[in-house]
Amino acid sequence: MKLHLFNISNFKVDGGAMFGVIPKALWSRVYPADENNLITLTLNSLIVETHGRVILVDTGWGDKQDEKFFRHVHLHGGEGLIEGLKTRGYSPENITDIFLTHLHADHCGGSVRKIAGGTGYELTFPSATYHVSRTQWEWASANNLREADAFLEENILPIVQSGRLNLVDEDGELFPGFSVRICYGHTPGLMIPVIDDKDRKLVYTGDLIPTMAHIPLIWNMSYDIESLKTIEEKKAVLQESLDNNHILVFQHDVNFECCTLEMTQKGIRAKDKFRFNEIASSLRSSQ
Ligand SMILES: [Zn+2]
Repeated sequence: MKLHLFNISNFKVDGGAMFGVIPKALWSRVYPADENNLITLTLNSLIVETHGRVILVDTGWGDKQDEKFFRHVHLHGGEGLIEGLKTRGYSPENITDIFLTHLHADHCGGSVRKIAGGTGYELTFPSATYHVSRTQWEWASANNLREADAFLEENILPIVQSGRLNLVDEDGELFPGFSVRICYGHTPGLMIPVIDDKDRKLVYTGDLIPTMAHIPLIWNMSYDIESLKTIEEKKAVLQESLDNNHILVFQHDVNFECCTLEMTQKGIRAKDKFRFNEIASSLRSSQ
């Protein structure tokens, strides 16, 4: 199994919205904000190469919307989707599977692009199967006021029209060494990949625990549809990860990519913090 993590792009969001009921005096000490109250997040995508498949987890914002749309998200830095793949020896044609944790615009936008020199849209990864949970697909298709800004038709419809959509029904192994855990608090049908590379399991926590600062149980995004469900789901993932010494991999944390866990008087907290490359190379050398 080969594993890579790369940051497609940084973006900015309102810090208060990222930490829900937690006062700014507390969260801003852990995750600093700029003068406009905005915090910087990454879009870390995971590449998993296993048994002849190349799986890409999430595709970032993409570039289909207009300048006004992107002015609000302040994209900056990062490697870019196609460039980040290229640096690691992959082209869009090599990708066999696109695994979308969910269909919010910052996670799936890069899956679909504008047809160059034409009108309409096409899939960015022409040979890939696109995996989304059935629950999330049906939820996004029905849409709702709270998530209307996050579920964008142009990100979603071309996938189903292509006939390349695979709907995932339940928890379990989707590829060898690549399992799925379906969550409901952030948005119904959020899929969390759990990678089993013989020695160590990695939990890519997606929007369940977007940054290391979100490990405390009530430090949750106000974007979550059902906060109490998020708390229950986090509690279970953190306890299992602590008990089995799993490594958490964060999708949105600009400061920390990975950590292990320990029990403290305050509850489960981060223990060792490290870059993804350190585990990827230690997993390789132990094989
Ligand atoms: Zn989300």
